[in-house]
Amino acid sequence: MKWDEFASWSKQIADWGAAYHTGLQDRPVRAQTKPGEIAAQLPSSPPAHGEDMAAILNDFDAIVMPGMTHWQHPRFFAYFPSNASPPSMLAEQLANTVAAQCMLWQTSPAATEMEGVMVDWLRQALGLAETYTGVIQDSASSATLSAVLTMRERATGYSGNRDGLSEKGHLRIYCSDQVHSSIDRACWVAGIGQANLVKIGTTGPHHAMDVAALEAAIAADRAAGHIPAGIIAITGGTGVGSTDVLGPILDVAKVHDLYTHLDAAWAGAAMICPEFHAQYWSDVDGFDSIVFNPHKWLGAQFDCSIQFLRDATPQLNTLKIEPEYLKTTGQAVTNYSEWTIPLGRRFRALKIWFLIRSYGLEGLRARIRNHVAWAAEVCDAIRELDGFEIVTEPILSLFSFRCPGDDGDQQRLVDALNDDGRIYLTQGSFKGRKIIRFQVGQFDTTRDDVMMAAAVIKDVWGQIK
Ligand code: PLP
Repeated sequence: MKWDEFASWSKQIADWGAAYHTGLQDRPVRAQTKPGEIAAQLPSSPPAHGEDMAAILNDFDAIVMPGMTHWQHPRFFAYFPSNASPPSMLAEQLANTVAAQCMLWQTSPAATEMEGVMVDWLRQALGLAETYTGVIQDSASSATLSAVLTMRERATGYSGNRDGLSEKGHLRIYCSDQVHSSIDRACWVAGIGQANLVKIGTTGPHHAMDVAALEAAIAADRAAGHIPAGIIAITGGTGVGSTDVLGPILDVAKVHDLYTHLDAAWAGAAMICPEFHAQYWSDVDGFDSIVFNPHKWLGAQFDCSIQFLRDATPQLNTLKIEPEYLKTTGQAVTNYSEWTIPLGRRFRALKIWFLIRSYGLEGLRARIRNHVAWAAEVCDAIRELDGFEIVTEPILSLFSFRCPGDDGDQQRLVDALNDDGRIYLTQGSFKGRKIIRFQVGQFDTTRDDVMMAAAVIKDVWGQIK
């Protein structure tokens, strides 16, 4: 392709993008296709000769788009949001076009230096102490894996990478039973093992880790000759928004010299609003590692996850590897690939810069405050529906409910709603019962979109009950 053709197609795609986004509310939120339907329309072997871009784009519209679920749809209330604000999309277009691989300072100084500044902008925005530095990762799963590997190495005197784990005994990591599955997976991959991830029960209105039970579990493990290595806490868990009381967990960690990681992948974005700190963020500054995903609620296009580190040294001692071909000579610079598991790095800081400059923190706060207020309103509207029950009250903008009937009826309602297409919700489970989760957080959702959901739920339940 010649560059003048590239420019022409890029303009057409930009126009297509604006039309797509302004027409989203007329599409069903969740893809309405059956498994295999899209693959069946694709040739089973690759073309031997190049095709016209016009034909490729036609097929994109005809084959691909019907098979897409619309994450930027204003009535997306499933999972957590994956917000892509328009300025962050523009930044991604630029980063994709320059197409740099930003693994070292010298492979793109601007990307590295902007990353340092953006992490610090977000540190200030979230009210974290000046001691924190950090790094941009692809996902919270990667950040948590980095933290778990650091727990492992720190607890073994940084000998696990060198010697392997066969002689190390049982390293133990503690968390509540409300953590995201990325914590389990990090423990599998780090060689800790599921059996050594100790899940503690929860208490209180925010379903917080029971700290007395945490202390008892650590004491029992020590008595059994196991090696406690770290604690993972949550602010805003995936299921129902569980939020741990951070100070007492840090006190326990201090007594037992344990490394601490906080998963605020979703709720971290709301911490740009100072009024949420007292309830959700007190004592946060004691955590060794904190992860939050600007690609969820904040509006930085996927992927973009910040890992803040109180002291980067333990993670660098765990992950840094410097073969001759990656050395930078003669300059004291930061090479962020030494802080993470993958070597290759995208220019992710650019979209944070575009996002925050375009809206300002006040613009982003206004959106999040609206989402939290509208979640409370729609929760009350669902509470009023005949026979419906609110199972967990809103934590920030997430709550859960049940329709009349058993677990099977909950799934029937979720499936019927998603087949209907006007809104998109997902199920979860809490204390052994199936629940229907509802979160408000799509970047451009309006109060009308949110309140319409209660009417749609009533309507669809009326059709299937
Ligand atoms: N932690 C929490 C609380 C989450 O809700 C999620 C995903 O939704 C994750 C971690 C994993 O995030 P990622 O997809 O960035 O790995």
